[in-house]
Amino acid sequence: MADARSTPRAASPGSVGSIRLMGVPIRLHFTFVLLLIFLVVIGLDSNQSPGSYSLFILALIVSVLLHELGHAFISSLYGIRTLEIVMYPIGGTARLERPAKPGEEFWIALTGPLVNLLIAGSIFTVLYTQHKAVNLFAFEQPSDGNLADRIALSNLILAGFNLLPAFPMDGGRMLRALLSRIRSEYEATRIATWSGRMLAISMGLYGLVYLPMLAFVAFFIYLGAANEGAASRGRSLTQGIPVRAAMVTDFRTLSHGSTIGDAANLLLATSQQDFPVVHGDQVVGLLGRNALLRGMALEGSASYIAAHMEREYASISPDQDLSEILPLMSSAGACALVMQDDKLLGLLTSENLSQFLLLRSVGLQP
Ligand SMILES: [Zn+2]
Repeated sequence: MADARSTPRAASPGSVGSIRLMGVPIRLHFTFVLLLIFLVVIGLDSNQSPGSYSLFILALIVSVLLHELGHAFISSLYGIRTLEIVMYPIGGTARLERPAKPGEEFWIALTGPLVNLLIAGSIFTVLYTQHKAVNLFAFEQPSDGNLADRIALSNLILAGFNLLPAFPMDGGRMLRALLSRIRSEYEATRIATWSGRMLAISMGLYGLVYLPMLAFVAFFIYLGAANEGAASRGRSLTQGIPVRAAMVTDFRTLSHGSTIGDAANLLLATSQQDFPVVHGDQVVGLLGRNALLRGMALEGSASYIAAHMEREYASISPDQDLSEILPLMSSAGACALVMQDDKLLGLLTSENLSQFLLLRSVGLQP
């Protein structure tokens, strides 16, 4: 497990803004922002007042958020930290610090849809106690009067959609967890990924003919299924292999008193992009290529690297399982220091990790 200093710096690409809930950063993907704009535009010419329409959209966002926080909460019970929640047009995704084990994954996946069922159930109960029958056709004539019905129905749809037994939906994760009791994890993932692709293709075709919005959703499901398949392939190629086997051991460091100019020379002279900064035997920071370029642009080559280096770097142990740190390495340009008892042993970057995976995928054991 990464220690307290580990802060995965890189957020998911394409995400904007960030707020924190229950200690988890929540980010909006730019496509989610586009969806919001789209929803506001199509809602302008409906029978609802702007107030109730905004309330409806807000309730949808909150429902998706609570769904994700449900996942995050159960994950935390298993001791898995949630690195971030990113909101996409087809829902949110909770990025976990390490992949869940099949037994854990089933319950983590189930909790999200359960939260939506709970919201729908509570609204139905309140309506029932007010002697109001639930209007199941509220979406056909949206009005201020059936706002609660529509929020409840939306949550039912969210639960049903997420329970579809196909990747990347929660139902697909539950399917994989169940399958991995009788098959290998790799094969279980292949089946769940395959069903995700089939679902996306049939939804896409149906959508193209009848409901263009559905084709849009299908596109994201297809991408999600493909991503999940690739991630799982990465996991199966790295499971049981220690970080030590993939780390870079031949690397250069910079001393605490070096200048940006020294760092730039090293960047040109080597193929390294990230330089550990040391003071005696102690690692005091990490200078990445971007920080170096920024320092060069802002203060010139004579300035000291200490002002520009990252003091909060990710550090991992050489004996840690590679599959556990894949999420940490998932963004391009990620770099972690491999340390044991405060001693620097090597570097692990997303580039050398992908080369390692490439070699293993063609059957070489580097
Ligand atoms: Zn979910």
